[in-house]
Amino acid sequence: MKPTLLLINPSNQYRRGFTLRQESRQVPLGLGMVAALTPSHWKVILLDENIKPFRYRPADLVAITAFTSTVARAYEIAAIYRSQGIPVVIGGIHASMLPEEAKQFADAVVVGEAESIWPAVIRDFEAGRLQKIYKAPPADLSQMPAPKHEIFHPSYLFASIQTSRGCPMDCDFCSVPVFNGHQYRLRPVEAILEEMASLRNRLIYFVDDNIVGYNDKAREHALEIFEGMIRRNLRKEWFAQASMNIAQDKELLKMASRSGCKMLLLGVEAESESQLHDTNKRLNLKLGINNYAHAFKAIHKAGIAVLGAFIYGMDSDTPATLRKRTQYILRSSVDVIQASVMTPLPGTRLYERMAKDNRILPARLPEHWQHYHFSDVVFRPAQMEAETLASEINRAYATLFQGGALRLKFLRTLWNTRSLRTAVWAWNSNFNYRSVALERPSIAINSHQ
Ligand code: SF4
Repeated sequence: MKPTLLLINPSNQYRRGFTLRQESRQVPLGLGMVAALTPSHWKVILLDENIKPFRYRPADLVAITAFTSTVARAYEIAAIYRSQGIPVVIGGIHASMLPEEAKQFADAVVVGEAESIWPAVIRDFEAGRLQKIYKAPPADLSQMPAPKHEIFHPSYLFASIQTSRGCPMDCDFCSVPVFNGHQYRLRPVEAILEEMASLRNRLIYFVDDNIVGYNDKAREHALEIFEGMIRRNLRKEWFAQASMNIAQDKELLKMASRSGCKMLLLGVEAESESQLHDTNKRLNLKLGINNYAHAFKAIHKAGIAVLGAFIYGMDSDTPATLRKRTQYILRSSVDVIQASVMTPLPGTRLYERMAKDNRILPARLPEHWQHYHFSDVVFRPAQMEAETLASEINRAYATLFQGGALRLKFLRTLWNTRSLRTAVWAWNSNFNYRSVALERPSIAINSHQ
């Protein structure tokens, strides 16, 4: 009989976030890659808490991935399997940033991109010599197979695809350069197109941190993907994250639109320069905040909606600047609103700086990692009490996501993009963010909760 590898995608038990609505659930793509790299003499099963609550299933080996906000749940599930004598391997961004913590809850920890080390983990397990820590170098994307999408539940509306890894920027709050490195690594275009063509999903989420990159090579790569999608008549609709510089590239925008792009997430972060300096958001500073409106207009002209990502709680923020940000979001032509509380994730410069200055709020760890989901306050803001920031974000959510504001956004998207389909995309996306924001009130954590 084949040995069984059980892959587990845990979900946050305090806030369900994007898993609340079917429209916003995202497949655990990394586990699809682990499945693809597992030898064929293994049986691979995915237990996905995005879809169904945990139910114990026997296995020979368990592999769990986790973000910081889901790691407490990952440790709980790991304990269940370890109590049955079944070895557990844990990986993902949180375990990579805090391997010393993770190794207390697992038999082995994969640090970094699992792809380059997973075959060795399986070999060691089979030889009975599983090691405590596996340090994985950045994977060579030209050698990687496509993730095994068949293991994902068919109810996922969006398929996820990755075209590149790494980011040369250095935003204070972001763990991408630490985890995936500063160098761009690009997947071969034909492999990406083949993967897309094999998927039954019409809707695609490109999980890249920036689909168009910051240099000529990355731009050409994106252009080739868009042209390939058009040439092959793939008929997908997609969204992705990008940086503001895409707005200055008419050709790229046109081809993105023709290949099915409906929405681009832009890290706007803030509408004032002092807050952009707080987070070292160099590209936005270079563009200049006065040019945001032109950038949004250029994207709209291609029939694409702008998903604006904003941060509440930067060091120069006061209650007054936060309310100004809310008004800016309402007035601006941003179509879809993502408003997050500043969150110092382990492994980022922001976390190190705040820990050094004793600004991380005391917490019962690992349980309280579940509050690191971008809606609660987990640090002492520089210019207000933590509770004040929590009540300001609650006030912002109530204003931004009220029905009238969203209806107005819908009409503006329709007017600006002249596309009903894009406006419907934006409308649905706003409801995804609305349900995440209003699921429960934001709080400032304290160790007595
Ligand atoms: S926020 Fe975006 S641009 Fe900044 S470092 Fe992270 S991935 Fe790069």
